[in-house]
Amino acid sequence: MASFTLHGIPVSRGIAIGRSHLLAPAAMDVKHYLIGETEVEAEVQRLQNAVAKVRTELQTIRSDLPKESPPELGAFVDVHLLILSDPMLAEMSLDIIRNRHYNAEWALVTQIDELSAQFDEIEDTYLRERKMDVLQVGERLLKVLTGTATRLPEVDSDGASFANIVVVAYDISPADMLQFRDRAFAGFVTDLGGQNSHTAIVARSLDIPAAVGMNHASKLIKQDDWIIIDGDAGVVIVDPAPMILKQYRELQAHQLRARRKLGKIKKTRAVTLDGTEISLLANIELPSDCASAMESGANGVGLFRSEFLFMGRIGPQHELPTEDEQFESYRQAVVAMKGRPVTIRTLDVGADKPLSAEEQTALNPALGLRAIRYCLAEPQLFLTQLRAILRASAFGTVKLLIPMLAHAFEIDQTLAIIEQAKQQLRDEGIGFDESIKIGAMIEIPAAALALPMFIKRMDFLSIGTNDLIQYTLAIDRVDHEVAHLYNPLHPAVLFLLSTVIAMGRKAGIPVSVCGEMAGDVKFTRLLLGMGLLEFSMHPAQLLAVKQEILNSDLDDLTLQTKKILRSTEPSAIAAAVSQMRATA
Ligand code: PEP
Ligand code: MG
Repeated sequence: MASFTLHGIPVSRGIAIGRSHLLAPAAMDVKHYLIGETEVEAEVQRLQNAVAKVRTELQTIRSDLPKESPPELGAFVDVHLLILSDPMLAEMSLDIIRNRHYNAEWALVTQIDELSAQFDEIEDTYLRERKMDVLQVGERLLKVLTGTATRLPEVDSDGASFANIVVVAYDISPADMLQFRDRAFAGFVTDLGGQNSHTAIVARSLDIPAAVGMNHASKLIKQDDWIIIDGDAGVVIVDPAPMILKQYRELQAHQLRARRKLGKIKKTRAVTLDGTEISLLANIELPSDCASAMESGANGVGLFRSEFLFMGRIGPQHELPTEDEQFESYRQAVVAMKGRPVTIRTLDVGADKPLSAEEQTALNPALGLRAIRYCLAEPQLFLTQLRAILRASAFGTVKLLIPMLAHAFEIDQTLAIIEQAKQQLRDEGIGFDESIKIGAMIEIPAAALALPMFIKRMDFLSIGTNDLIQYTLAIDRVDHEVAHLYNPLHPAVLFLLSTVIAMGRKAGIPVSVCGEMAGDVKFTRLLLGMGLLEFSMHPAQLLAVKQEILNSDLDDLTLQTKKILRSTEPSAIAAAVSQMRATA
């Protein structure tokens, strides 16, 4: 067969090479038939048995999870258990059997369709992607009802051969993903999924090359096809020509060698050739990520995306984490970082927490009641979080980071609520760091362009390049149709970035970058040349960035960067930036 290439969304870096193993989805086009009155109870029982069986299946997966597995995995199984217990799925399907006399499969699929339609209405991408969890639980139930066998490959060898298998699927449930860890597959490709999909999150935490959102990959790829996944580019090459395969094998070996080599600089301080020390910080999503942050030698946590503690709180009650629960999570992170600073960003969610489809009013959630806007509209929830963060500050160095600020009054209101939280704790005799540093994310162009407003009021700044680029270039960062317009090297983006870094330095206020740009070695030297001294990134990227820093000369980079910033021609900028890497 002729070779062909598919393009999707890169979610986990690295190269995987192997033969494809296709996972057939459980068919949703089940048999539809009406049952007689006397058969209703038996049909109800059949569905109830399936629910019980799936519950046992999921509970077994949950309890068999090894201790060292990423915490997200357990949380995902919990979400599936919650969905299974949700009356909206099982109870409503049982009602359909009783009232409409549909057979169990038909009733279930009808109810799943109804729930899917409700999820489609949700604006928030993260929540909308949770529709997949409902479908996955539905699939599991259908498989039990229809007696479909387990779908994962059964290679009965010592397990080594899994390393040559790339799993290709329409979608993979988090529960099935667990078997990736056990069986060490080479990588995976799915038709569905986005940056925030569970499968993507799990792939990153397992460090397995993966590409998702490949549309029809599972139909185009045949069983046992040779496949290359370029996880960095989100590209899948099917049946590659021998020359291409050879090139990728070399690249893969090179990447492996480079990774091993990097391990040697774990304990080395990130100092440039001219002696400037750079602070390398970790971005984390859960307190347990602190282990990899410490392991990578991070100087602290530059971004704790606290919203991950609130996510997965899907379910009938929509119970958000309490102050105590949050405090415990923040404290855990602070203790795990052993005295290194932990920058906790306050809740960055959309208008749709706690998630209810009816509450969806935002036409454009990226421009809607997001992050600090949401928190200021929900002061009680905000106060609870602030109290929890402040309480954790008694256990180490905590910094407070506020997302999406654009207006002076937002800063002032935020500072007032922080003061209110402090006062409450004082009154209650609860300890916290009185001089806790408070910083702003600079991720809206207006904030970057009106920086003195922030410098006057804040202790530090952190540039969120992901959003800064989204808002500067007016492209939705989760919309794949405009993904090609997402360009960190656009002259407008570079202007904003360099201006914020320069103005911050001039005013003597610390500035870091915590968006994806900070962890991308292609941009390390450019950012150094702009005068950036603090980089915050996923721990897995930290050593490669450090390597760049160790070989950089700031004087030289500053000159080169000045030239780049004068250029208005995108192709010239791109060429000059890659030249920086080649020569510095
Ligand atoms: C950013 O916008 O660059 C950022 C770091 O925040 P998030 O990606 O969580 O929006
Ligand atoms: Mg952001």
